[in-house]
Amino acid sequence: MTAQVWAVANQKGGVGKTTTVVNLAASLVHAGKKVLIVDLDPQGNATTGSGINKSSIKHGVYGVLLAEVELQAALNHSKHGGYDVLGANRALAGAEVELVQEIAREMRLKNALSSVKDDYDYILIDCPPTLTLLTLNGLVAADTVLVPMVCEYYALEGISDLVATVRKIRLAINPQLQIGGIVRTMFDKRSNLAQEVSAQLTEHFGRELFETTIPRNVRLAEAPSHGMPALAYDAKARGTLAYLDLAQELLARVEA
Ligand code: ADP
Ligand code: MG
Repeated sequence: MTAQVWAVANQKGGVGKTTTVVNLAASLVHAGKKVLIVDLDPQGNATTGSGINKSSIKHGVYGVLLAEVELQAALNHSKHGGYDVLGANRALAGAEVELVQEIAREMRLKNALSSVKDDYDYILIDCPPTLTLLTLNGLVAADTVLVPMVCEYYALEGISDLVATVRKIRLAINPQLQIGGIVRTMFDKRSNLAQEVSAQLTEHFGRELFETTIPRNVRLAEAPSHGMPALAYDAKARGTLAYLDLAQELLARVEA
């Protein structure tokens, strides 16, 4: 096997990037896939949400980016999620500054992941909400970008920034990078605005828009404080089922 690498990105915060990474990972494991999460956000929410104590991380993705440690040696396993995690904590914010003076600074993650690409079916990268050297490493390492978005008034403007960024990266460093999916999160089917924005998304992105939508569901918000994906916390919750559907839709697309 050779892993499909998906960067989950959106320059807006609070749109469900981390929730999508953690729950999609657990859902892919449920479908029999081997999965690695790379947490590129210094807040480390995907790390804690996977039940890994941030303060127990010695090297994590920070050490890997600065070539202080081999990737394999920096991995953790999520007991409840069933996937591996290359974790992050606050120290990662410092990596930004240090990376600036390193050689091939935007290639670091891609190079490191090449050593484990045959060990996984899917690698999901949780990007921070800003276009920093960390996000750049994520987008250079990825084959595909998955964009979670909330159907609000300014949502389309936010996404056009990301489209422009992806185009630049494609031209400059990573020619195969593409936006492979847009997923509507915290979605309320009954809202007129959600319907309007959905229509615009279909017009602009066509088949890139996932049919599966993720509803607002309190179980998805509660699960991280228990250090587990919603699948382990409440297997019957609407949010859990939605992410299981999203994984099936993604697998069907990739395997088609
Ligand atoms: P991001 O990583 O884009 O900043 P998060 O995944 O951390 O976004 O989500 C932001 C907040 O919204 C978190 O508190 C999370 O628990 C909550 N949240 C995300 N998706 C949902 C959802 N579908 N239903 C309810 N709460 C959600
Ligand atoms: Mg996040």
